Amino acid sequence: MSKLIILRKGKEESLKRFHPWIFSGAVHHIEGDPAEGDIVEVLNSEGRFIALGHWQIGSIAVRVLTFNRQKIDAEFWKKRLSSALDVRRSIGVAGTSYNNMYRLVHGEGDNLPGLIIDIYGKNAVMQAHSVGMHVCRMEIAQALKAVMGDDLKAVYYKSETTLPFKASLGQENGFILGDSDDNVAIENGLKFYIDWLKGQKTGFFVDQRENRALVERYAHGRKVLNMFCYTGGFSVYAMRGGAELVHSVDSSAKAVDLVNANIELNFPGDKRHEAFAEDAFRFLDEMDGNYDLVILDPPAFAKHKDALKNALRGYTKLNAKALEKMPSGSILFTFSCSQAVNKDQFRMAVFTAAAMAKRKVRILHQLHQPADHPINIYHPEGEYLKGLVLFVE
Ligand code: SAH
Repeated sequence: MSKLIILRKGKEESLKRFHPWIFSGAVHHIEGDPAEGDIVEVLNSEGRFIALGHWQIGSIAVRVLTFNRQKIDAEFWKKRLSSALDVRRSIGVAGTSYNNMYRLVHGEGDNLPGLIIDIYGKNAVMQAHSVGMHVCRMEIAQALKAVMGDDLKAVYYKSETTLPFKASLGQENGFILGDSDDNVAIENGLKFYIDWLKGQKTGFFVDQRENRALVERYAHGRKVLNMFCYTGGFSVYAMRGGAELVHSVDSSAKAVDLVNANIELNFPGDKRHEAFAEDAFRFLDEMDGNYDLVILDPPAFAKHKDALKNALRGYTKLNAKALEKMPSGSILFTFSCSQAVNKDQFRMAVFTAAAMAKRKVRILHQLHQPADHPINIYHPEGEYLKGLVLFVE
């Protein structure tokens, strides 16, 4: 018996505009007793077919996989994955020896809601954010192998922290296809150790690739402070860009080890770099103000809408502290990866910081997530990374 979700009258409007989520409030009734993660058929109040998607418990009731009546089988996954790969090839991040790490699947942005796949060399790290994608993980891994062939050796499944807690799936992280002990991948010709087994997210923040390249462009002769450095992506690029010195700061001692290892991997014995395990706010309070290129890339201050106000205050305080001490002629790269904070709100928070620090500031660049993190035009919620590059007089 098919599993059906019948919508309330008039509730298919957003779906006509291809928005990929159906909220629980739009559901009139359910037939066929679907379990969380099942594929369900969505019908409007008159019984007309609207979409197929994964059923879930919570405020998002269905994540839409397709607006056509079709089978969700191996062919379906292969088609979606190869279309995602085509995009990465055409934008030049896949299939090159200069760059072998990139995001292959960015959820809704690749019409695969709830699924993230990052590629590191011949290894894929896969994350499910929905029970539906979790249920399909083996089929997806097989389809990925079929699409990538010899370019793929292993798929590591890493959904321990991303799956809905209430679903209590007890999922362990681990390889679901092949096996690999590779731990180095290449971004724009620079080498990085990737710890997908234990690292944050899928092991690396691939979303900052292009913004790191911009730091490299401005680093020549500058004294660089990379705050919230994690694996030290920005630091390694600044070194290649010819910085006079690079200081990396992160509150986690593990991150400090990672950045040191990555510097050593690319610039062995280079004394321009030093890393500090310290709290950002404390470091900024105590620093002597010599840095003329500062990067602030903090973790998401607002994970949800209700934390918005505090998050904005946090961004203002952080940026004001940095701006107060930066010498004239310096450059600030400042980011927010909170989805709940939009670009205008972030810009306003930085504006307030500049005013508080009484600094004249010009916006040189407005930055965002790169092309391998595409935004589905019908799902603007997919836009999350924003940044400003400021010239500080
Ligand atoms: N810029 C990094 C990603 C940053 S992730 C990159 O390009 O890869 C955010 C980092 O901030 C984490 O490594 C976390 O350990 C660190 N962090 C969180 N709170 C902090 C604090 N109060 N002070 C310093 N670092 C902090």
